[in-house]
Amino acid sequence: MIELERVTVIYNRGTLDEKVALKNVDLLVEEGQFVVIVGANGAGKSTLMKVVVGEVKPTFGVCRIMGQVLKEEKIFKCGSIVCQDPNLGIFPNLSIEENLMLARKKGFRGLSFGRVDPKAIELLRSCELGLEENLKKRASKLSGGQKQALAMVMAVSSNPKLLLLDEHTASLDPKSTEKIMELTDRINKTLGTTILMITHDMSIAEQYGDTVIVMEDGRIVARIDKSKQKVQASQLKSMIKSKLTATT
Ligand code: ADP
Repeated sequence: MIELERVTVIYNRGTLDEKVALKNVDLLVEEGQFVVIVGANGAGKSTLMKVVVGEVKPTFGVCRIMGQVLKEEKIFKCGSIVCQDPNLGIFPNLSIEENLMLARKKGFRGLSFGRVDPKAIELLRSCELGLEENLKKRASKLSGGQKQALAMVMAVSSNPKLLLLDEHTASLDPKSTEKIMELTDRINKTLGTTILMITHDMSIAEQYGDTVIVMEDGRIVARIDKSKQKVQASQLKSMIKSKLTATT
């Protein structure tokens, strides 16, 4: 599904501000896998995600999605991304229903309204946040957790093969975080969507996903297959030599 082969990314190459953000990174993510990426600030997690979405081109090496080196527009069609800010994944001035209609049409015939997919309503219901009962409500009126749940359901409405999550629970309270993580897991298990998720929350990395990747200074320093090896939040924290660990 995702294949990085000796990927190096150098920002501002040849200038005084040159920064090597990824160093010879090899990564293989199989279809249907749920991969969690952890690491200190500046470890290269976002750069790795940007390489996968085609936003940053490798300085050296290659990134293949479904066996091919795809342009950014093509990746947009087969993948969806949900970021930290719940307002970025929704259209705040539209109703929940309208948001879902637009999301379903992503990448096809522009942004026109279609029908709400019953599967999307089912996913909303499964979050138990009351969204399915308020389909006419404006998205801007929702809580952070509700917005992010809507953003997640929108992200999978176009049936993407790949879902990229960049600290998508970082701005949420613990209860909403739990709901959103349960939804994330459900999407992976029931829809079979391949997930690549960055998190700073070690207990999330312990609890969710089937593989944990630890990054440090532009490299993958550990890859833990949870089916073979149990992973603990405390263990992950000690692997990440960072001030960040104090906040989790
Ligand atoms: P993380 O997501 O793990 O915090 P990043 O991928 O954002 O790490 O950053 C890796 C390194 O690359 C950091 O040292 C960061 O300062 C640097 N970096 C990130 N983006 C840019 C950019 N656009 N220009 C220059 N340096 C960058």
